[in-house]
Amino acid sequence: MKSTAPKNNPTEVDWFSLSSVIALLCFAPFIVYFFVMACDQYQCSVSQPLLELYSGETTLSAIWARSPSFTWGAAKIYAVWVGFQLFLYMCVPDITHKFIPGYVGGVQDGSRTPAGLINKYEINGLQCWLITHAVWLANAHYFHWFSPTIIFDHWIPLMWCANILGYLVASFAFVKAYLFPTSADDCKFTGNVFYNYMMGIEFNPRVGKWFDFKLFFNGRPGIVAWTLINLSYMAKQQELYGHVTNSMILVNVLQGLYVLDFFWNEAWYLKTIDICHDHFGWYLGWGDCVWLPYLYTLQGLYLVYHPVQLSTPYACAVLALGLAGYYIFRSTNHQKDVFRRTEGTCAIWGRRKLLTSGFWGVARHFNYTGDLMGSLAYCAACGAGHLLPYFYVVYMTILLVHRCVRDEHRCSSKYGAGWKRYTDAVPYRLLPGLF
Ligand code: NDP
Repeated sequence: MKSTAPKNNPTEVDWFSLSSVIALLCFAPFIVYFFVMACDQYQCSVSQPLLELYSGETTLSAIWARSPSFTWGAAKIYAVWVGFQLFLYMCVPDITHKFIPGYVGGVQDGSRTPAGLINKYEINGLQCWLITHAVWLANAHYFHWFSPTIIFDHWIPLMWCANILGYLVASFAFVKAYLFPTSADDCKFTGNVFYNYMMGIEFNPRVGKWFDFKLFFNGRPGIVAWTLINLSYMAKQQELYGHVTNSMILVNVLQGLYVLDFFWNEAWYLKTIDICHDHFGWYLGWGDCVWLPYLYTLQGLYLVYHPVQLSTPYACAVLALGLAGYYIFRSTNHQKDVFRRTEGTCAIWGRRKLLTSGFWGVARHFNYTGDLMGSLAYCAACGAGHLLPYFYVVYMTILLVHRCVRDEHRCSSKYGAGWKRYTDAVPYRLLPGLF
């Protein structure tokens, strides 16, 4: 297809973005390490290591020396895991869409890229998730090839392996963008090497016709792993205490619902900002390999060290909050999806329409509000003993507020006066009356 918008003229990066990028590149791996280490060495207290460091009771090198290091055993587990996901993604075309009513899988079109390409994707995430979890359950209850606590038992050595893969993927994507880009017209060069490395140059890097970096790394080693990690934490609780707490079940159920929703709607994911606007670099590559599996699962990890048993009314309140958040999240996304697939797809005088009714008339990013309610529910399931499990909702708030700002900046230039009319009619972003 003919390119319509070549994007490889270098663009300037402001000093604020550049310093944020360099800070993240330097500190993000240590943030992940800090939380996991705090659980391993300080029973998930985030203040204790800081206080001990401040008072001189311990040193950074002592903390580092106590941390489990890289092991070849963990490397083998990780290689089998990534290899298995790669096999499922590349070699097992989707058949579930043929017999699950209402599910959209198989070969689907992505959105039009800035250069005018429409990529095809093999949507088989639900099938990969089902097969992976069927193997996991069959092993736990029947075959016993490996312990169901295997992930927890190698958690820190696996983190080093995930970091190696994350940096390799990001570096490969960076070099590939210069040497053999998939679509040269979709590359974005900023003239700053750190920014290019972190935020990515290529839009939809691929190897061959079907291996898509964004779809694979976000969905497979990232989101398929999420529910398996939680199951491993649940098995560890059972092993250590002889029972599983209701808080652990809540976290598994609510996050399991979110993960299943993602795979059920994987075709919809092709239309989200990650795929439609972000370029693939360290931010997505390393983030999918390390940040997502390690920090999105902190609640389950915490509950292994602190087996909180919630009162029934409190547990019901958390469940209600999580389900209400999920309902808002899913309905809002669904309303836009239906709107875009029906009359909202047409362009009038070159402009697409904006939805101003339903949840999109309550606030301009009510899908984010639902997501944040769900995030708060996961954290609240851990009770109020420690700060660590609440990291997730703090992080999601920063992520989604930042997304609001950058998305609105883009929408304002894309829709012009139409966006102004929309923001006048729907003045709040996340919470009517507040923000
Ligand atoms: P959205 O699905 O909200 O997409 C924003 C885009 O929607 C805009 O760029 C615009 O695109 C279109 N749009 C905005 N307002 C309107 C309107 N009124 N009518 C019609 N179209 C409109 O954002 P994301 O892709 O960021 O998020 C998708 C979901 O994923 C969210 O629910 C979010 O919570 C979740 N998410 C979760 C993350 C996690 O780590 N757990 C991370 C990021 C997102 P256009 O003009 O091209 O149609």
